[in-house]
Amino acid sequence: MENVTPNVFTHTRLRGSNPSFVVTSDGVVAIDTPQLPSRAVEWRRTAESHGPIRYLINTEHHVDHIFGNYYFKGAGTVVNHLGLWERFMVPGPEIDPFDYAHEALPADDPAGEAIFPARDEYYRDPNKGSIVFTGDITIRVGDHTFNLLHTPGHTPGQTTVHVPEERAAFTGDTLFSGCQTWLMTSDVDQWVAALDRIRTLDVDWLVPGHGPVVTKGYLDVQRAHLLGWKSAVADAVAKGWSRAETVARVNFADEFGPVDIGQEYMLEYIQTWNAGALWDKLTGSPPGGGMPRPPDPRDPANAKAA
Ligand SMILES: [Zn+2]
Repeated sequence: MENVTPNVFTHTRLRGSNPSFVVTSDGVVAIDTPQLPSRAVEWRRTAESHGPIRYLINTEHHVDHIFGNYYFKGAGTVVNHLGLWERFMVPGPEIDPFDYAHEALPADDPAGEAIFPARDEYYRDPNKGSIVFTGDITIRVGDHTFNLLHTPGHTPGQTTVHVPEERAAFTGDTLFSGCQTWLMTSDVDQWVAALDRIRTLDVDWLVPGHGPVVTKGYLDVQRAHLLGWKSAVADAVAKGWSRAETVARVNFADEFGPVDIGQEYMLEYIQTWNAGALWDKLTGSPPGGGMPRPPDPRDPANAKAA
């Protein structure tokens, strides 16, 4: 766990997103939850050691930001953008988020198996938002202000949490700091606009969805990665490359790597997914044509190096 400011805590070294919380004069506000069950239980205990959790805000619908909500039942009111709430743990053509959460356990949280719910039990109450908003909203807790800004691009319901008193903002995966960017459900043009909006905030610290805490200078790096992907695939389309040719030849594994902690085995999958998704968008093709299932970490071929 790291202190960003005396009241802002985050953890950037877990498999999954960077769960965070802010301590106010009237309790704690949590932002995202650990994907791994044991880490979620521990993180809740740590946050509650600073006071009762008043609100839990999620920044996006991807499993690594929301699955741990299940272990935060009864810990404050969950707040979700409508675009997030509608997609909360909904299986898609490429990934079943429930299976994906489960697949992480053998390698990263074997003890979590004992508290991993059955599918039916999980979906009865995954602890989605009970405050569901569109646009932006502001929540006041104690002496702190939480401006929830709709910053779509990485996902449709993407939310940035700006806490002016701490001169900090939590961006979710609008920022991948020092690691590969996942473009799967993204609109790159919206995403670049989201970076521009975050640039207008008067903050010292940006807590990304993945990787180390950064300053606003990193917005330019993220922008360069997004535009690098988009222009490379646009060039491929202009040359008349097929989807398969584009996926085979457009690759930023060496330039924009590594993958965030615990998901190293996804490196090539991210390349094919990013290139394929952009090709679909730029050619107006239906999404996900012929994409492979992601590699399963339980397959010995994907075993981590010791
Ligand atoms: Zn994430």
